Amino acid sequence: MPIQNADLHCHSVVSDGTMTPEDLAARAAGNGVELWALTDHDEIGGQHRAAAAARANGMKYLTGTEISVTFAGQTVHIIGLGFDPDNAAMLQGLNDTRGGRGPRAREMAEGLAKVGIANAYEGALKYVGNPELISRTHFARFLVETGACKDTNEVFRRFLTEGKPGYVPHRWASLKHAVEWITQAGGVAVIAHPARYKFSANEEFALFSEFKTHGGKGVEVVTGSHTPAEYVKYGETAREFGLAASRGSDFHSPDESHTDLGQLPFLNGELTPVWELLADRIQ
Ligand code: AMP
Ligand code: MN
Ligand code: MN
Ligand code: MN
Repeated sequence: MPIQNADLHCHSVVSDGTMTPEDLAARAAGNGVELWALTDHDEIGGQHRAAAAARANGMKYLTGTEISVTFAGQTVHIIGLGFDPDNAAMLQGLNDTRGGRGPRAREMAEGLAKVGIANAYEGALKYVGNPELISRTHFARFLVETGACKDTNEVFRRFLTEGKPGYVPHRWASLKHAVEWITQAGGVAVIAHPARYKFSANEEFALFSEFKTHGGKGVEVVTGSHTPAEYVKYGETAREFGLAASRGSDFHSPDESHTDLGQLPFLNGELTPVWELLADRIQ
């Protein structure tokens, strides 16, 4: 039987999720996931644990990460799957990408202090599992804790998105570098949740074309932040650009994520699943 229930996008305490790789693996397996990948932001420190936990729970495993990239003035996320988690160039590239997060977080806290939210850096740090990976999500959890907002969605809307007091523009990795790190480490690069970006049709076309030119091979079609209409739209985009399709919940936390592991619809049978390109990388 071909694999259908693949979940190739989620986050642990190694980035901005709230669960350990081991607890995520158990949850994924309990939800019927056959093939799993942990894709922490800009970080692959959880990969050996996740692979072992997948094995212990009877799932197949692909290594994973979600790299932050700046393209046409916006942040784009590129998922890497099936790479060697000990590849030196990839480890260095991710290390450099993470490097800007500390200073950015301090600046975010300064912006928040100006609107009366004190000690946000220290507050966010309490939620951080990996000191190198402080993210907006950790600030969001702190602002919910203080009662400033009722949930993390409201925090992003009022404080952490472009033009808001806690937002700090940031330059991440280039598209070319992210795709090359993944590919040269033996993996496959995938454009994450394309419907989330606010690109014009021309910019989106440029993103997909340049991604292909650099060696990118896949696009997320079925993912937590897409609507059913967007599954159809990006399924068509995948076919148009000759890209394979991926499926992943983008699960972060039982309290915050509306999409659980392994619960989204399966990929349309006419698409090429990205895991078919990775048959020899599945553990
Ligand atoms: P960062 O990498 O620090 O810019 O943080 C990005 C992360 O913030 C994403 O991976 C999501 O987990 C989270 N995020 C972004 N936008 C929202 C939103 N509107 N509501 C909740 N979480 C969000
Ligand atoms: Mn996240
Ligand atoms: Mn993302
Ligand atoms: Mn994600």
